[in-house]
Amino acid sequence: MRTCYFGFLFLMLGLVAASTIKADGWDRQSDNFQIRTFRGGPSAVKLLARCEQLRSDLQQVWLGGDDRHDWSPRCQVIVHASKASYQTAIGRGGAQTSGSSLVQSVEGEIVLRRIDLLYSEERGASALPHELTHVVLADRFDNGRPPRWLDEGIATMADPTEKRTLHQRDCHAALRSGDALPVVQLLHLDEFASAKQVPAFYGQSLSLVHFLGSQDEPIRLVEFAETAGHKGYDRALREIYQIDGVAELERRWRTYALRHGTQAPQALVSLVR
Ligand SMILES: [Zn+2]
Repeated sequence: MRTCYFGFLFLMLGLVAASTIKADGWDRQSDNFQIRTFRGGPSAVKLLARCEQLRSDLQQVWLGGDDRHDWSPRCQVIVHASKASYQTAIGRGGAQTSGSSLVQSVEGEIVLRRIDLLYSEERGASALPHELTHVVLADRFDNGRPPRWLDEGIATMADPTEKRTLHQRDCHAALRSGDALPVVQLLHLDEFASAKQVPAFYGQSLSLVHFLGSQDEPIRLVEFAETAGHKGYDRALREIYQIDGVAELERRWRTYALRHGTQAPQALVSLVR
């Protein structure tokens, strides 16, 4: 399970028409989602429409025309009224989070898509765009697992400016203190070795995704990661971005990140309509 700390975003719940029906155990169901909310919580009909719209937008931005088949199994979206309910659902490790996504695969086939959201009056179900990004990206990678830096960097692109600013500050602080992860380590990191790595990892991942994403069309980021999976990062950098390997990427990205300072990078894409 991948769990993500999340900041502020007021959802603009779309009113896009979607065929919605009630199904066993679920408040509403569409072609791609099953929604469960709670009495007094967000409208299942509106949340379902928002999920379908976001899925379509995210697929268009990051996957292009590919991988746009209906999801089977559907993505389950469960909105929790209390922190106790949320934490019981996601297990240990998510105490500071308000959203969590889970994609499970067996022999290359995705067998479970699930998002848990902690609802609050102030922020709504605000982690949805970030968590749904993870589920959309999973379609494109073996066993539903993109490289972690790419997965979190792209998902953080769906976060609001306030959240991205905090990540950029963490990145800048890590660069200034010497705690920044070498890019070659960032590209291959799957499990954290220490708590200190966490803010640097999220900040650097967002910054690196933004740096690479601004070299060409954002959609090429996914192609880059796929190519790296087959040929390694050095060759993928030369083929996709005409950057002469990871060492050259490190030099160019550090210059970019330090010049950027503590300001949040402009979102490469706009998802909130
Ligand atoms: Zn995440």
